[in-house]
Amino acid sequence: MSDCIFCKIAAGDVPSKKIYEDDDVFAFHDIRPIAPVHFMIIPKRHVASLAECGPEHQDVLGRIMLLVPRLAAEHGLEQGFKVGVNTGPAGGQEVFHLHVHVFGHPARA
Ligand code: 5GP
Ligand code: ZN
Repeated sequence: MSDCIFCKIAAGDVPSKKIYEDDDVFAFHDIRPIAPVHFMIIPKRHVASLAECGPEHQDVLGRIMLLVPRLAAEHGLEQGFKVGVNTGPAGGQEVFHLHVHVFGHPARA
């Protein structure tokens, strides 16, 4: 999708604070964090929302969810974190490229 901000971020055409990338998945810090740690994980291939996903998205959805605890731990959230997938206008979704929010407070050293 040429006019999608998250497609542009995943392609590297719009800068972001990237924390992870592979062939299918991209993760980056939220530009307006609502917690001390707040990042998002997205599929590189455009899909508007969780409600638009079908069986063809099963693999990438699974890989995104398995990345959640790994990236959370890498950012100090070993004690726990919250995960959110705002879906649709009534679900508070503002950017219509599927994204999984991960946020929390790092444990004290
Ligand atoms: P939604 O409400 O759609 O679940 O959340 C979209 C999120 O994307 C918001 O938390 C917002 O701060 C973040 N966001 C919107 N535009 C950009 C951007 O250009 N870069 C980054 N890093 N985050 C963005
Ligand atoms: Zn997109």
